[in-house]
Amino acid sequence: MNLGILQYELGILQILNQEGIKYEVLNELPAQYSDPIIINRELSSSELNIVKTLLKNRGAILIDAKNLLKLIPGKFRKKKISYLVNDHTEIFSNILGIELELPGYINKNQIFATEYENGLIVALPFNIAEAVTDCRSFRKPFLSDLTKRYPNEIVAAINKGALRTLIINSIRWLYQKLNRPYIHLWYYPQQYQSIFAVRIDTDFSGKDSIERTFELENKTELKFTYFIHTQYLFDLPQIPKDFQIHCYEHKVYPDYERNYKNIFQAKQILESFGINPIGFASPYGFWNKNLQRALEDNNIKYSSEFSLAYDDLPFYPIINNTLSCVLQIPVHPICIGRLLHAGISPQNCVSYYFNYFITQLIKREPMIIYDHPNRVTQFYEVLYEILHKAKGLPNIWLTTLTEYYYWWIKRLKIFNEASWTIENDILNIKTSHTTADIALHIIFPNNEEAFITLKNGSYNLKNLTKKKIIRLDFTDQDIRKYKNLHSFQTKTQISFFTLANKILKYTKRRKK
Ligand SMILES: [Zn+2]
Repeated sequence: MNLGILQYELGILQILNQEGIKYEVLNELPAQYSDPIIINRELSSSELNIVKTLLKNRGAILIDAKNLLKLIPGKFRKKKISYLVNDHTEIFSNILGIELELPGYINKNQIFATEYENGLIVALPFNIAEAVTDCRSFRKPFLSDLTKRYPNEIVAAINKGALRTLIINSIRWLYQKLNRPYIHLWYYPQQYQSIFAVRIDTDFSGKDSIERTFELENKTELKFTYFIHTQYLFDLPQIPKDFQIHCYEHKVYPDYERNYKNIFQAKQILESFGINPIGFASPYGFWNKNLQRALEDNNIKYSSEFSLAYDDLPFYPIINNTLSCVLQIPVHPICIGRLLHAGISPQNCVSYYFNYFITQLIKREPMIIYDHPNRVTQFYEVLYEILHKAKGLPNIWLTTLTEYYYWWIKRLKIFNEASWTIENDILNIKTSHTTADIALHIIFPNNEEAFITLKNGSYNLKNLTKKKIIRLDFTDQDIRKYKNLHSFQTKTQISFFTLANKILKYTKRRKK
């Protein structure tokens, strides 16, 4: 059997596709089931009795607290949840905090995770689908010890990578308590622990700063992906580089028509240089539904907008309950400009990124950073040092956004084609895939893990090389700092920046 989900719903499927965990859409609630079941719709009163029987029969469920309230009345109270913060429980592994700003139901613990009757329950305080498909964006502060001010940027309201981790940790916790191994398709080729890629947006850049960026690329022996601001493009060298679209005019519009035209114009210019772009990164990282539709209609294959998501695995965005065909590849939203703006010295920028790299690597999350040619020109040595540090990290795939796109869609294809089951310590894999670039990751109830290349055959789990899983360790001080991000003082600081930005924009407009 596989993980059960009660109903077909795109929000939870997004998370399961990112994770690469096999699932079964059940539609009807069974009274007995060996794997955990995600209850992702409201339960009728007759179904409540089935849940009770399921739990008596050693069943395990992931549910939202509003739904669980019908089963265990009086447990939770209605509350707006501004954020969740690490409480040293296993379900918060590798998560310092999650910004939500959603209505929910909470009890004395943030996450209700318990043995119940003979079964197991994890109840999340919010609605999973609502959180996963959330498209709001806010100006948000980011943690840094390097200055009193917080670097900030307009980004997705909910940190989607952390949200996904919380949902997956909940599922993993249920498997662990059921004393069953947990298995999913690994996030990276072979057994790399993360990836590193660089996105360069060529905002208003002239030939000199772009060439300086090529120099940096050559010196580091990395490959960058260039998102070209085509209005300022007069020449492109006849060398094979990863050139994609930033925009024609450096703007994102609320409507479909102007977004479509802006992308179309940029695409035509790149095509005149013999380039067939498939990738896009929007100006300012802004995102809206009409932009996504305009990308689809321009036949763009992937895009990258931190107003929709950041620091997450790739996914296909959900618009009005349909799946977009343009893959979102999230990046880390803080570039050097944002750090300098917060008063961080150029040399300390290196520390900021190094800290980010180490954190992502331990979490096994992607590290994709972005910057601009004018910053390369200004802070060439600083950027070189940052990239050099990333290059020196162990077991990471140094790649480009475009390469990662192609690998990710291959992973998705294999996820749909292949199947695997575990019975009495024997792993059976059925697949037509033959190369060694896709692996399965297995987590055992004793918190050990193993990797195995995805290839047709039967394998004894006892023969796999296992090692202890390493997780991020958050101190009480880290947790206090995270809470402080949401303090009145920080909020005032952020609203000051928001206001300052508005005034700046207004005066710019008046000058025109
Ligand atoms: Zn830009």
